Amino acid sequence: MKIIIAEYSGFCFGVKRAVNLVYKILKNTSKPVYSFGPLIHNPQVVAKLEGMGLKTIKNFDSLEIGKLIIRSHGVRPDVIKEAKERGFDIVDATCPFVRKVQSYARSLKKTGYKVVVLGEPDHPEVLSIIGFAGDDSIVVGKEEDIKCTAFCEKIGIVVQTTFSFENFQSIVGKLLKKGEELRIYNTICEATSVRQNNAIKVAKGVDVMLVVGGKNSANTARLFHICKKIVKDTYWIETADEILHKWFLKRGKVGITAGASTPEWIIQEVVEKLQSH
Ligand code: SF4
Repeated sequence: MKIIIAEYSGFCFGVKRAVNLVYKILKNTSKPVYSFGPLIHNPQVVAKLEGMGLKTIKNFDSLEIGKLIIRSHGVRPDVIKEAKERGFDIVDATCPFVRKVQSYARSLKKTGYKVVVLGEPDHPEVLSIIGFAGDDSIVVGKEEDIKCTAFCEKIGIVVQTTFSFENFQSIVGKLLKKGEELRIYNTICEATSVRQNNAIKVAKGVDVMLVVGGKNSANTARLFHICKKIVKDTYWIETADEILHKWFLKRGKVGITAGASTPEWIIQEVVEKLQSH
């Protein structure tokens, strides 16, 4: 069985940066270290960090004061404000690309635009962007969501960094009819599109495709759906333990891609498991 690993797969720049930062802090502090929500969308990595002492929290109630890590997806500004007021030492691990989206959203709001965020309504990155865009901003995840958008003089658009470019194009096309003046920032992160294009390239030449990554990871979900359209036998796994022998019977080539929050060690375990088949 031949195994082909997508050249661009696994940890992206922003995730690597956040994880390394937390490792460093955990090794060098005796204070409690908290992450507001999961640091990244990979349960195995989060569990490993929690094993080293990281505590994932949802609010600040009854906590001993310590360091608060702002996760790679960012958080609303009011969360940071509250943490500072309570005396937490803030360590900002927001990916710089996400920070850029937040700052575009804030400046659009300040200059009188109705801010439209293209993305998944419940995704933590989108929730953080809304915090900067104002609670009167609108989240659009699919074309149908536009129907209830009223006509506005000025519409300012920003995009979740892991949003699909095709969706972005089609939704923007529809939004053109909803405003007189549109300011559009294409804030899709290159790491996402590079991983998707690379996954497509690999999927086109294999019989089975494995997409490795957290079940809560939006960019892994997108990789899965893209590959599934090309290879019927595409499987989404979090770890090597989920691999089933029957997937590879009479199959010659297996492709592997992994979401931006999947660490190298999980990809390696998948490869080793495949080699043992
Ligand atoms: S996918 Fe892009 S925006 Fe998201 S964390 Fe990675 S580098 Fe940052």
